[in-house]
Amino acid sequence: MKYFDGHNDVLLKFYFEKNKDSAKEFFNGNDFCHIDFPKILKSNFCGGFFAIFVPNEEPDDDFFKRMINEKYDFPLPNKIDQTYAKNATNEMISILNNIILQSNNKIKLCTSGKEINECILDNNIAIILHIEGAEAIDKDFKNLYELYNKGLRSIGLVWSRNNIFANGVPFSYPSSPDRGEGLTDLGKDLVKICDEKHILIDLSHLNQKGFYDVAKISKQPLMATHSNAHFITNHSRNLTDEQLTTIKNSQGIVGINFATAFLRRDGRMIPETSLDAIVEHCDHLLKFLGEDHVAIGSDYDGAVVPNEISDLSKIENLYKYFIGKGYSNTLTEKIFYKNWNNFLQKNLI
Ligand SMILES: [Zn+2]
Repeated sequence: MKYFDGHNDVLLKFYFEKNKDSAKEFFNGNDFCHIDFPKILKSNFCGGFFAIFVPNEEPDDDFFKRMINEKYDFPLPNKIDQTYAKNATNEMISILNNIILQSNNKIKLCTSGKEINECILDNNIAIILHIEGAEAIDKDFKNLYELYNKGLRSIGLVWSRNNIFANGVPFSYPSSPDRGEGLTDLGKDLVKICDEKHILIDLSHLNQKGFYDVAKISKQPLMATHSNAHFITNHSRNLTDEQLTTIKNSQGIVGINFATAFLRRDGRMIPETSLDAIVEHCDHLLKFLGEDHVAIGSDYDGAVVPNEISDLSKIENLYKYFIGKGYSNTLTEKIFYKNWNNFLQKNLI
């Protein structure tokens, strides 16, 4: 079974492990990443959005640990400096390019849905370059064009912190996603430029007001690469039924996130989490979006995930679980890769 993934943070792992040869660790395999080449071969992974996430300048080692608590409401981390963000982004792009260069044409940076489809048909691996938070982009959008020329085709306006474009949603449980103000005027301009240049806009990590600002301005179908159902897990990062309906009306797509804090009804970030939680979210998303608009955005290498799918090599366990729960092969294939492939062929042009 092929698998296309809406979100991973493996480039961040290599960015943190600066003393390691990232291409060597990637191709030989390692025990600090959820995704590496041997795990890709075991999983039939055919591609995905590779996120560039710029971490806080002060590292926060307790981030996941604080999400083990019964309730939590993180303050938004401080804004980050644009030059720092630009440098970190370019460093992660270099890591990715080096991996691609050493892949013997097995891995490709794709800038259109057509290229992605060809990659999948050829049994190669298609990568979409995504930034999770637009801090590397300056107010005159000069860096946007530079990044576009390097292959950037997907932008999350914010991670869960504020920047000059929008306000992020804090990590909070239990909580509504209606937290804070939406897009700034610059953020609205950025949305329009993304539409003109056919850059995808990711809604995951926007708060509710920001979500509806994008929905109002953008003409593209709405995309939340790695978000779950708020009805099941009352977490600020998840999507309400009204938001799901708005996505459905735009012919958009949602990728189910494996981060256990967004999957479990108790909002705790712990790996002892049954795959049933994924099925519950999936059932709910299917009810609102229909079977052509639900996909997966694992958050591998960026979250604590359920033990049974503890890294990419074990993704088949989820496929079998879906089948065991009565999902047809056809539906499971759609969720695993066909819906992303169709969405990207239509919208990444
Ligand atoms: Zn994320």
